[in-house]
Amino acid sequence: MLKISSLSAHYGPAQALFGVDLEVAAGETVALVGANGAGKSTLLKCLMGLVKPTGGEILLDGQPVTGSSPAKMVRLGLALSPEGREVFPELSVRENLQLGAIPLKLSKAEEASRIEEVFSRFPKLKERHQQLAGTLSGGEQQMMAIGRALMAKPHLLLLDEPSLGIAPLITDEIFAIIRQLNRAGTTILLVEQNAARALSGSDRAYLLANGKIVEQGKSEELLNDPILRSAFLGAASQENPAASRLGAAGLTNIRLEKPDMRQQKFMPDFTSEAELKAHQLKGLQWTVRHAYEGSSEYRERFDAADITPEMILSLDDLLKLPFTTADDLRQGYPFPLRAVPFEQIVRVHASSGTTGKRKVLCYTQKDLDDWTDFFARCYQMAGVTPLDRIQIAVGYGVWTAGMGFQLGCEKIGAMAVPVGPGNIDMQIQFLLDFQSTVFCSTASMALLMAEEIHKRGIVDKIAVNKIIYGSERSSRSMRQKISALFGGAELFDITGLTELYGPGTGIECSDHDCIHYWGDYYILEILDPETLQPVPEGEWGEMVVTSLCKEGAPLIRYRTRDITRIIPGTCSCGNPLPRHSRIKGRSDDTIKFRGVNIYPSSIDTILSAIPGLGSEYQIHLTRDESERGQMHLLVERADGVDAKRSPELIHEVKYQIKKQLLVSVEVELVDYASLPRSEKKSQRIFDNRIQDEIV
Ligand code: ZN
Repeated sequence: MLKISSLSAHYGPAQALFGVDLEVAAGETVALVGANGAGKSTLLKCLMGLVKPTGGEILLDGQPVTGSSPAKMVRLGLALSPEGREVFPELSVRENLQLGAIPLKLSKAEEASRIEEVFSRFPKLKERHQQLAGTLSGGEQQMMAIGRALMAKPHLLLLDEPSLGIAPLITDEIFAIIRQLNRAGTTILLVEQNAARALSGSDRAYLLANGKIVEQGKSEELLNDPILRSAFLGAASQENPAASRLGAAGLTNIRLEKPDMRQQKFMPDFTSEAELKAHQLKGLQWTVRHAYEGSSEYRERFDAADITPEMILSLDDLLKLPFTTADDLRQGYPFPLRAVPFEQIVRVHASSGTTGKRKVLCYTQKDLDDWTDFFARCYQMAGVTPLDRIQIAVGYGVWTAGMGFQLGCEKIGAMAVPVGPGNIDMQIQFLLDFQSTVFCSTASMALLMAEEIHKRGIVDKIAVNKIIYGSERSSRSMRQKISALFGGAELFDITGLTELYGPGTGIECSDHDCIHYWGDYYILEILDPETLQPVPEGEWGEMVVTSLCKEGAPLIRYRTRDITRIIPGTCSCGNPLPRHSRIKGRSDDTIKFRGVNIYPSSIDTILSAIPGLGSEYQIHLTRDESERGQMHLLVERADGVDAKRSPELIHEVKYQIKKQLLVSVEVELVDYASLPRSEKKSQRIFDNRIQDEIV
């Protein structure tokens, strides 16, 4: 959008800018950081046509605009919120705002509607619209200056020192509004002395000193650069005298509140598969011995199979070990598989068993520490940093979910907003008031929130850029819809199960086509659920897990019933940790229909690929008089799709299901939003045939 090349400027004989190169792409927030007198304001004035450059070129959308008049620059879509705010103290708030639109010669009606728009972003200005600008606080004057620039509906908004001389609390508010403006599509060039603020509120940054660009890059990387950190962000000390010089120049007026969190590393050190395997063998040998010596249940089973810990000499020996199942856990109630004395147990968790006894798992302090560390790894893989605010909308209590998300969040140094599940009004209010940047929930809850955000029209007032969701399968169209209604948030599917610590045993990476799992904490086997033999690498089967360092209740060849497959090779994201596909379903909720095994996810996939359909559906299975199974699909039309299109869509669904799954189904289309939504897992399969048909 904006390209500045070799720009030079002089004030009389004194040179202020020396061949500055700077670019801003559409949709970005770019920061220009430098001390007082570094040349920042000169550069902005050159851009606005207030100072004539003595060399170089400025291109806006590819067109040369060097030396154009200020009025022309406003018409081309630039607007400046100047340093020191330059408000007209004797005019009212409303009159000051009107000044921002003068070069555009708007109609009265258009002007009024733009003023209302500014008021909706800055409710404080609305309250004071008739007040004289000179009587506003510094923060309110700053808001008014930004509002005045917004009156021109700029493509590129230039903000000069929005935090200068303003209390930190109000600065927070102003930066939250800057983020929202960017989300709403405004490209922003942010000029700031306050390096920490500018870098944490922008995508990329340029550091300017003595009229020259001295450093540039992604803001997050600059913020993490140890040398820049100590120079720009550190406190002055004997070891870091540079900080006091920069501090005197106004560069260090705010320090990062959590200085060491960013240096934490939760990824393992191994670099090759061989190293990982060696680590796994040691862990397996330790686990088998620990289970044999500590747990009477494991010892009995090993004795019955004639197995001693000494027999585990290679990873292949894993295949000799007996399986552990959910039934073993239920039968051992209340403390199944416990392998340490009670004095070492610091907590229990239980799974949400709907029938019979719950599965209870006990944890030592080391188990909790390990869980915390690899959950922090999940956040790190999703790009979450100490600057994030994580709204946790999953269950707390005896269930593992909330605890896991919470421990990992605190470990990584982000701010937790522990709301728990449900409570949509409170969730929405906190998204708005706390400006949470990460939202964690089930897929169903995320969809419910997405629709609510859409309904209330607040997408450009929230700050969520990542959604971490788990414990439930999700179709592609559901993911797309959640992301779109949340304003383009990035989705990360997180895996886990209570038996194996809890959530966080793996997560989708930024490439979004696989789950990386923590092979240094557990071994993953993929077996044929019928024969219990390993399937060839890359084929679908049941996930069976063996823990490598779990003390309280070690797991040996535990049958999870989850269906997935190993993805061979290394990921294009560069992370060496092994991968599996997203969970496709559970071996015990496969639909057996007229002799065909159907995973509910294959229905998801087919429906997702047909434009015009919504993301919600139900599968009803019944039996007719001749005892033939019937499958009846109830599918929502997408938002805004006319009911007249139903026959054509029904035809397509039937055709694709027949073609891909080789079965015939009945299809009925219903209105958008007519199927029930749930904040927990939505029930999608209703089987009214004889129950024992289901394996
Ligand atoms: Zn990856």
